[in-house]
Order: sequence, then structure tokens, then C-alpha cells
Amino acid sequence: MKLPQHGWLKVQLHSHSTRSDGRLEPQKVVDFYANAGFSVVSITDHNKITQVLHPHVLTPPGLEVAVRENGDEFHIVVIGAEELPPMAVRSSVSHVFEWCRDNDLYAFLAHPYWSMLNAGDLLNLKSCYGVEVYNHGCEVEISRGYSGHHWDYVLSKGLMLQGLAVDDSHTYTVDSLGGWLEVDAESLDPEAVIKALKSGHFYASSGVKVESFEWENGFVRIKTCGANVVKLLSGNTKGAYLSFNLLRKLANTEGLPLDVELWEEGFRIKSREVTVEGKLRANLFVEVVMRGQIPARGYARLELIEGLCSAWLNPVKV
Ligand SMILES: [Zn+2]
Ligand SMILES: [Zn+2]
Repeated sequence: MKLPQHGWLKVQLHSHSTRSDGRLEPQKVVDFYANAGFSVVSITDHNKITQVLHPHVLTPPGLEVAVRENGDEFHIVVIGAEELPPMAVRSSVSHVFEWCRDNDLYAFLAHPYWSMLNAGDLLNLKSCYGVEVYNHGCEVEISRGYSGHHWDYVLSKGLMLQGLAVDDSHTYTVDSLGGWLEVDAESLDPEAVIKALKSGHFYASSGVKVESFEWENGFVRIKTCGANVVKLLSGNTKGAYLSFNLLRKLANTEGLPLDVELWEEGFRIKSREVTVEGKLRANLFVEVVMRGQIPARGYARLELIEGLCSAWLNPVKV
């Protein structure tokens, strides 16, 4: 797996307009994101398809469908739809995702934590592409925007869902510009963008930037504009955690089964199984490389954190 090949496009896949419960007219929603540097915006009103045109921004039509199942309400975001899923399909979550696959659409599960879904219920979503790991509107509304547990649970059971970050903005004030995708598409046309989404050629962000990412057998390299925490999340007791504070403590601790070196512009941690090294700028990681026996089982994903912002990379099968 290697990102990026073509440069990043800023993409918003979950937004509401006056066509449902949002405060801005559809055209104003797209203008809002165009002014903020976005290349792709989908308006995803509740049970309504909205398409507007813009000279510089790609606007694939979308919608958000709500399905009640076993006492829970699942919200599904569908991108590229030109018609509503038939009523008969909307009676089951799996049927909606299957209908989307059959119609070549890109669909993902919205805000499972906000909906208080049981992580195990997501295991039925075989035709789903991904899950919102971060929904900014849900976070600023009731502090339930982060669904990392739901995502890791299904990944640990072998269902390789992608992780998305979105605004789900309604007011375009505090609930906007806090979650989006950085997509590595071949060009700015609808087919190339949908192809990149389906292939997982993107990362999710709430403000941390990734420059490049490579993962091969026994080798991981990530370059970023700056993060003070790097997390490796994986299955079954595997994973790793690295922060600048931890690194400083490790470098000052005697008797560890690790060889730790830290200098102003870099660091190296060596154990019997693995070497982690990288570059630092103003106490932030700008490059981290792991070589050897990567502590991962089943799947692995990387998460970078700087202050209140994160970047979430899509999982790799290991
Ligand atoms: Zn929703
Ligand atoms: Zn929504």
C-alpha cells in the first residue's frame, strides 16, 4: 500500500442543506466549502437527493437514509445516488448497502457512537465500504463524534471497513470544517473520485496532515507535517504507542530491554524484534519508520494526533 501518487483533494461527504434540516441553501453549502479549499462536496440531506453545480467543485449527488432495525436507528450516507433506494430496500440496513453495491454507489455508516449502536451489529454490514470514525457535528453537539471503538471492533473481526471523517454540518458555524477526507484521486472527475474512495485511497482528518504513507511486509513509513502522538492500532493485544513525552521518558530510563536514542532532530528505538526511527521538528514527529517484526495481527491502522486534531489512515491487512 502506498499513498499518495497524485496529491490530495479535500473532500466533504456528509452535509445538510435547507432541503432537509440544514440552515444553508444547497448552493451556499457548496460555496461555503469552495471558500474553505474543498474540491469535492456532497450534500447528503435526509431521504432527499440534492445536486447543485459549481464551476470548481465536484458535487456528486448524495443522501442520508435512516433505517430502524431491532430498536436501533442506523444512518447510512450514500454518494452518487440519482434515485432514492426503493421503500422495500429501506426496511433493512444490509439491503440498503447491498442495493448501493448493486448500483455502483459508495455508501458508509454514519456516526455509530452518536446512534449508540452495538459494535457487534456492524458485523452484518458486509456490503458497506466504511464507517465514520469521526463526525464533527456529533462531537460538538453531544461529545459522541468519535467511533474508534466501533471501527476497531469490526476490523478485529476481519471486516475491513474504511474510516471516514465528516462534518455532518447543519448550521455551518461551530459544526463545520472539523472533519473531512484527503483523497488521492487520479483526477478531479466523478469516476476517478468514486474509484479512489472505493479503493481506500484516502485518509480521514480533523486537522493533522499526512504527506505520504507506505506499508510493505516488515516496513512502515509515514510522513506528516507534525504530530505529537503516533498510534498503531491492531488486533488481539497487538499495537504500539509513541508520543514525544514517552520518548523523552524512555531515553532517560535505565535498564529497559530497548536501546533508545533521542536527539534534537530525530530518534531511534531498537528492540530485538523491531526498530522505530524518525525525524522530529520542534518536538513533533514529521517522519516515523518501523522496520522488522511490526506488532500487528489481522489488521493495522495508524492514527496521528496533534493537540485536539487527528488523522486516521485506512487499515492494512497483515
Ligand atoms: Zn445522521
Ligand atoms: Zn447527517
